[in-house]
Amino acid sequence: MKCYLGIDVGSISTNFVLVNEAGEVIYTLYIRTEGNPIKAVQAGLTMLKQNLSEKKMDVEVIGVGTTGSARYLVGAITGADLMKNEITAHARGASQFVPGLRTILEIGGQDSKIVILEDGSSVDFAMNLICSAGTGAFLDAQANRLKIPIEDFGDIALRSKKPTQLGARCTVFCESDMIHKQQIGHSTEDIVAGLCHGLVRNFLSSVAKGKNIKSKIVFQGGVSENKGIKKAFEDALQEEVIIPPYNTVMGAVGAAFLVRDKPPEKTKFLGFDITERDIRCSSFNCGGCPNNCEVIETRIDGKVAARWGDRCGKWSTMKLDI
Ligand code: SF4
Repeated sequence: MKCYLGIDVGSISTNFVLVNEAGEVIYTLYIRTEGNPIKAVQAGLTMLKQNLSEKKMDVEVIGVGTTGSARYLVGAITGADLMKNEITAHARGASQFVPGLRTILEIGGQDSKIVILEDGSSVDFAMNLICSAGTGAFLDAQANRLKIPIEDFGDIALRSKKPTQLGARCTVFCESDMIHKQQIGHSTEDIVAGLCHGLVRNFLSSVAKGKNIKSKIVFQGGVSENKGIKKAFEDALQEEVIIPPYNTVMGAVGAAFLVRDKPPEKTKFLGFDITERDIRCSSFNCGGCPNNCEVIETRIDGKVAARWGDRCGKWSTMKLDI
């Protein structure tokens, strides 16, 4: 079976998706990046190859797309045919499953974003990469404090009759407020629901500030698994919020569909064997002009596979060894 491979490498997770020629998602894999995107991709491709062999699936990769913060690095080591930013990939992926969507709310472990679309293309967006108060890390920290598994958070929140009002502008304020509310008798359900509402308030007043949120609204990313947050968004926006299929791996889904939209004549995919090869990444400063660009170089088995980071193209357009 001929397939397109999408890979999304973020700070927390690395996701792999296979989409067949008919546009069906036939495989998804989520693994932890653990600070090393090269190792994560090598491990992921090894697992992918093993899983396909166990399921007796004969897959030929005919195109590879990468996205996420390490898309260039991972694109270089896998031989990607397309490397796109997360906004474009998330918009493409979600549009596949929710035609006519206008707004994407995306909350991951350490970042969050909003994308506004018109006719399937993104026309505005904002990202939060600095403050954890509107991300999954915030919820994880509070779940830890309350000694509640994060997987149970959503169900507990939905049992609340009167969500507690918490000063959830940041984790520090929130923690002290939460202790106070526990001491004066607020139930765990109400506090958990209050945290969900707090996160949504943070998101809407910071990341989504000034954005024209219109339905259809899609919510994706790891935190979209939490039903309490979905409900809090619906309460705040007074609109239905849709959780699309593949909500936790949508960047990789989008990367696979983007390469399927414009398939290469012949893929540059280096194969699953990159897992056994020696891959190294280094950088140097060009010094060719006052920009003094930091140029990143990736070598596979000692041969230069990619260079990027140069503003003028002096290095990235140079002939590569691979
Ligand atoms: S890569 Fe180009 S822009 Fe950057 S320092 Fe070298 S010459 Fe200047």
